[in-house]
This record gives sequence, structure tokens and C-alpha cells, in this order.
Amino acid sequence: MPELPEAETIARALDEALVGRVVGGVVLLRGDVFRGRVDRLTKLPGVRVERAYRRGKRVIVVFETGEKLVFGLGMSGRLAVVTREAELETHTHLRVGFAGGVELRFRDPRRFGGVWLFAADEAVVGKRLGLLGPEPLEISSRGFCGLLDRRRQVKALLMDQAVIAGLGNIYVDEALHRAGVHPMTIASDLTEDERRGLWRAVRSVLRTAIKHRGTTLMDYRDPDGAPGGFQQKHRVYRRDGQGCRTCGVVIEKIVAAGRSTHFCPNCQVLGL
Ligand SMILES: [Zn+2]
Repeated sequence: MPELPEAETIARALDEALVGRVVGGVVLLRGDVFRGRVDRLTKLPGVRVERAYRRGKRVIVVFETGEKLVFGLGMSGRLAVVTREAELETHTHLRVGFAGGVELRFRDPRRFGGVWLFAADEAVVGKRLGLLGPEPLEISSRGFCGLLDRRRQVKALLMDQAVIAGLGNIYVDEALHRAGVHPMTIASDLTEDERRGLWRAVRSVLRTAIKHRGTTLMDYRDPDGAPGGFQQKHRVYRRDGQGCRTCGVVIEKIVAAGRSTHFCPNCQVLGL
């Protein structure tokens, strides 16, 4: 499931491929994937792309009119930039054609994702999309430590998009291991040092993952069709039964926050 580093990789690629291009035509192949009024979508032709960026796990294409096409990638959403002649893959739900013969295509076999069009004056954060907390690569150490001041399991807290945006199962497990924090620790029980350590671990994991263009487990590909490479750097995620890269003790898998959770019982001890 795409998280912040995968969305960032996609947004950067779209920014590179689409900025300055003018929309030629929009074809919605599956209506329920688009969450909004289709007549607004059909008014896009003639409009130029200004930039593409990421907020949380969402990828956003901004047009010169200020309108924003927002992609939620869900479990299996994929964005590809291809030539108009490229063969149409199954589960392609939206095609946005551009002058010059290039097309942006949105595919989502499992359809947990979606596409929204926001007006120029509409903020991307809000009720329509659910609340989004601060960006983990932008929040200060002090701000992050403050977020942890809640009596909630740290894994569940960090995966809550309304608390902090962009983290999911993979990167929370990886950050907790690097910080030496057990996933079931109550966040407010963490010391200041532990909280700062977790802030550093989150940033370091995300930055390294972005450098490797994200993690590919099954579906994820960047808009050029290339898989990510960060899975080779995972220390705990889906490494249960294998040795911890730090201490050699066998990585365990438990359920925390309703999700498979991977940790080292030696490096990440649950405090009393
Ligand atoms: Zn270990």
C-alpha cells in the first residue's frame, strides 16, 4: 500500500513529466472512482498543469486555474505517464490526455483509492478527504514530541492520518525499530529522549525510502513503471523469522493497531 515515500516518488515524477502541458481530453472509464461532479472534470481541456506535489499519501496535480486533481492511491492505485498509443491496461479508470501525445492514467484494481477535483479556493485538507495532520518531514522535533503526548499505542497513533500524515504500516514499523521503541508502547509513556529519537527515526526512514523511490511489495510502480528499491533496506517489515540486522535476534510478528506488526524483541523492549 503506497505511503508517503511512494506518493512522493509519484508526485515528483508527475511534476517532471507534466508541468507546462495542456490538457487535451479527459476520459472517465469508471464513474464511481471520481468523487465529484463529472461536468467539472470535462471542463479541464485547455488548462495547463502548474505543478504536482504530495500531501500525506495523496498525489495532487495543480492546474493554472488553481484547480487540483487529487489522487488517493488506496491499496493498489497506480499513476502512469504513457504515450497515447500505449496499450490500455485493465482497471484503468481515468485517462487525462495532454497536448503532445502524453497521457496520465490512473489504475486501481482494488478500488480503495479515488480521484477528486478541488476548486481553486478549496483546501485539500478538510472534511471531503478526512483530516490530515502535519507532514512528518516538516514538523519540528518539539511539535512531534507534543503529538506523542496521548495515551494511545504508539503504532496506532503514528498510523492515524489525522495526527500525522503519510505514515502507514511499513514505515511505522521501520521507524519504531530504528528508534528502539516497542510498537505497543503507550505514546505518552515515552521519555523526551525517546520521542526525539523517534522523530529522527521517522525522518531518516522516510528520507532514505524516498531516495530509493519507495517500497515495492506487490503492486507499487512509479509513473515510469519502475518498482521501488527500499524493500531491500527493511529492517523488520515482513522480515519475521529472520535475524535482526542490529542484534541477530529473530524478528517477531504480532498484531498491533489491527495490523501485522514486525519488531525485534531484543532491540524494542516493552517498558513496564
Ligand atoms: Zn534487534
